[in-house]
Amino acid sequence: MKLIKFITPIKLIKLGSFLSLLLISSAASALDPIETKIAERVKSNSGRALETLEQSVNINSGTMNFVGVKKVGKVFKAQFDRLGFETQWLEGDSFSRAGHLIASHTASLANSPKILLIGHLDTVFSEDDSFQKFSRIDETYVAGPGITDMKGGDVIIVEALSALHELDLLKGINIKVVLTGEEERSGTPLSESKKALIEAAQWADIALGFEDGDSNINTAVIARRGSVEWQLETSGKPAHSSQIFQDNIGYGAIFEIARILNQFRLELAGTGDLTFNPGMMVAGTSIEHDQTASKGQAFGKNNVIAKTAKVTGGIRALSAEELSNAKAVMQRIVSENLAHTSATLTFKLGYPPMAPTEGNRALLKLYSEVSQSLGYNVVEAVNPRNAGAADISFTAGLVDMALDGLGLMGSGGHTKDEVADMTSLVKNTQKAALLIYRLSEKGDDNT
Ligand SMILES: [Zn+2]
Repeated sequence: MKLIKFITPIKLIKLGSFLSLLLISSAASALDPIETKIAERVKSNSGRALETLEQSVNINSGTMNFVGVKKVGKVFKAQFDRLGFETQWLEGDSFSRAGHLIASHTASLANSPKILLIGHLDTVFSEDDSFQKFSRIDETYVAGPGITDMKGGDVIIVEALSALHELDLLKGINIKVVLTGEEERSGTPLSESKKALIEAAQWADIALGFEDGDSNINTAVIARRGSVEWQLETSGKPAHSSQIFQDNIGYGAIFEIARILNQFRLELAGTGDLTFNPGMMVAGTSIEHDQTASKGQAFGKNNVIAKTAKVTGGIRALSAEELSNAKAVMQRIVSENLAHTSATLTFKLGYPPMAPTEGNRALLKLYSEVSQSLGYNVVEAVNPRNAGAADISFTAGLVDMALDGLGLMGSGGHTKDEVADMTSLVKNTQKAALLIYRLSEKGDDNT
């Protein structure tokens, strides 16, 4: 259904057979001579990878430190320029953030797959945080703000592409890299802040995310619950309270909103992976609601039937179907108005669910095979309950397959104990490079 909606028929045919090629692909095979070269090249470039990592971690790029985010953007822009990519800094004025770095490479071969690589430049550590520097703990571990979440993942993107570029293997792959500047604290409105990402996903066949996932090198993310905000407003006929429940007066805005919320709970609580929560309510004769500050004021009198009521809430679901079913039930409940009341329910553009699709599973299988070919472990899917919404969620339904959690592993993300396991740097760069290479080879088979 999603494919039909977003992809032209020609693309659909191509992807259909592409997907089946992936599904029938054999178990892990040994590296061929070109693949061995890719793995070796990644290893021999590891000094440069480490330098870029240290340089970028040492620049504070808390989301609201726009100067810092742009500086980190420049570090990575220079790397993509080195690879001959077309680079562009997209200013973030329209969504009140620093902006995004976009880097693209166009294949010189026809029918090459289009791959989107996703990272982010910002961290949760603000300019005045005490945690600011890259510091080596021992041979294996390095501490640093944003080292695994996710400057390490950004470096893996650069170095995986570097290895392919240096071996002249990029000509059969279309690449778009989007390094956002506001993953940790999304710019608003989302329709502006996620626009570049959504457009890139509309262009792409395949999306790869380089977050640290659940920081286990033996897992990757094929599904994430989405998170969407909703707003419910009701209105009633104001009159003296003594007239409430009369045929010509009805029930007022507050009874109507109470009916709706209670019915949401009765019909939807405890179903599937769905959760929803009303977070704030204002109601009375007149109300003011400041959406940005999540604040409200109300005026009303106990002897006057309430004219207006508003509640804001959130909803989380694992699949687009689960979310749309819930939305349909909610809208039906909203429409069954008490006498002389009306109600409207609106959903904001939020983080869509990334469902565990067949395409995502096929991509994970290919990634796991790549890992085994390199002599590393089988890679399994992260439990989606352990994976919150992330930038890759915005590609859900727009790409044929998506996989996240391919970044630098470690522990303590979002805390001062953030530490990277440096043994995963070369391994996951090799895995990413080989995955992209094998995807391009399968794309070729299909021409
Ligand atoms: Zn992150």
